[in-house]
Amino acid sequence: MNHDKMINISTKRGFLWPSFEIYSGLAGFTDYGPLGAILKNNIMQKWREQYIINQGFYEIESPTVSPEEVLQASGHVDNFTDPMIQCLSCNEVFRADHIIEEQTNLEVEGYTNEELDKIVKEKSVVCPNCEDKLSQIWNYNLMFRTNIGPKSGKTGYMRPETAQGIFIMFKRLARFFKNKLPFGVVQLGKAYRNEISPRQGVIRLREFTQAEAEIFVNPLDKTHPKFNEIADETFILSSAETQIKGIEPLIISASDALDKGIVANEILIYQIYLARKFLRELGIPDEVLRFRQHLPNEMAHYAIDCWDVEVKTDRYGWVEIIGIADRGDYDLLAHSKHSNEDLDVFIDFDEEKLIKKAVIKHNMANFGRKFKKDTSKIINALNSIDPKKIQEELNSNGKYELEVENNIFTIEKEDIIFDEIEEKVKGERIIPHVIEPSFGIDRIFYATLLHSFSSSISKDLDDGAKEKIKEYFKFPLSIAPIKVGVFPLIKDEKLINISTKIKDKLMASGITVQYETSGTIGKRYARCDEIGVPLAITVDFDSLEDNEVTIRDRDTEIQERIPIDDVLNYVFGKLNNF
Ligand code: AMP
Repeated sequence: MNHDKMINISTKRGFLWPSFEIYSGLAGFTDYGPLGAILKNNIMQKWREQYIINQGFYEIESPTVSPEEVLQASGHVDNFTDPMIQCLSCNEVFRADHIIEEQTNLEVEGYTNEELDKIVKEKSVVCPNCEDKLSQIWNYNLMFRTNIGPKSGKTGYMRPETAQGIFIMFKRLARFFKNKLPFGVVQLGKAYRNEISPRQGVIRLREFTQAEAEIFVNPLDKTHPKFNEIADETFILSSAETQIKGIEPLIISASDALDKGIVANEILIYQIYLARKFLRELGIPDEVLRFRQHLPNEMAHYAIDCWDVEVKTDRYGWVEIIGIADRGDYDLLAHSKHSNEDLDVFIDFDEEKLIKKAVIKHNMANFGRKFKKDTSKIINALNSIDPKKIQEELNSNGKYELEVENNIFTIEKEDIIFDEIEEKVKGERIIPHVIEPSFGIDRIFYATLLHSFSSSISKDLDDGAKEKIKEYFKFPLSIAPIKVGVFPLIKDEKLINISTKIKDKLMASGITVQYETSGTIGKRYARCDEIGVPLAITVDFDSLEDNEVTIRDRDTEIQERIPIDDVLNYVFGKLNNF
């Protein structure tokens, strides 16, 4: 693991570049170069395979600009803030919690601004630039605000997460899934957060890519149909308790973690399992991962349980790359209240139940006198509304305003008599709970680069007597941006002809190829190794006689001869095993 060397090669070879470079750059943004863009897409493709194909979830796409109402309902307008502090001398602004943590080694997640102000005073926290005094802390909303339309009438925000787009569509989604829980919906796309002072490369961006799945479940049934397959899998879990006590993480099976109440439910631990499987397939080993439960002061008040997947880095310490949370009914309830739409589904009981039900009896004498010819319209409208809603409103306001055909009719307590009847029911309407794995693709991209970056001693192919240090990306074949190198040994027409045919055949089958004719064969292998090309094929003069080529493995450097006709099968065979 070596951040500096990895960034050096990734910049040199076109993975990550600073954005807006010719205009002196801008913190919090990044460019993906030609190889970076392929690698990022391959990571997202693998994510889609896992969640859409393997789990049966569906993908949607919603706008990246949101009207204010959406983010008011979700709580982002009021609460999506970071504590900010300013230097009284150089006027630079910082995230207060970050500089406090850097200068005091305290963990201050979840602290109020007053508590943070107190620490700044007591521990003499100063400006990291000029070591001068700092201001009081204030809340800063992280969303990019904009105007929708030519006049400044409608406020909008760039979405701070992809999840809200899914919640907003819930009504249509529930119908799409025939109102049957559980169902999963995913969205991959850009999210925007106007981070205060991003100084951590792609770890903290102002525009980044998320892949989020929202799994809508019955609150009374959080079992997972495939839990048995993972019940004996062992996980290393930093539960809240181990963190508070300062003891080693638990090494525990999935079933024990559930039985002991460490993880709240089967779906949640299944998601932890899937996250680990996904990261393993990107080549990120278990040793550099940890699963950390949120501490009570970190967890949102509505959340039932939350786990972060963190990756070890030499530059930034442990970094959260995935958040997995049981969010209860918070999101759908909030949007239901603000939009006045029912965001619920009907679920069947195991067997019919006898329940007491409130019903409305109209005081016909009052109704007729008050509403005259509108009486029957009003009664029809009232019958379509949940009596509980009307009862609650009458109890709190003394009246209920009913809209019928654009007219408002005021219903008062004496107009309605409430009664209770017993009824056999097959099920009930409930607001589903949401379990959300939220992946930060840029951070996962960074972790993939960092942990596939390898250094080994290898033979110098151009001078067999020498050894050299080989620094390269050890990408698994399935995500490597370029999968195969194809080289004619020298620039000879016959060798070029065969090489071009092999190259074209691979490309036509969806395999990315680096075709190179210049430089010694050793240099061409080295250039391919550096950018993580797993296989390299060389066409030499023997190929003209035996119709075979040499295929070299990037990691072992073992070379084999295989028939030209077998090249495709060979590559696809390896692809399926990686
Ligand atoms: P959150 O909604 O804050 O839990 O974020 C979900 C995931 O998005 C995190 O696990 C990160 O991987 C990623 N993420 C959050 N903020 C940023 C950022 N500023 N830059 C890059 N990735 C981020």
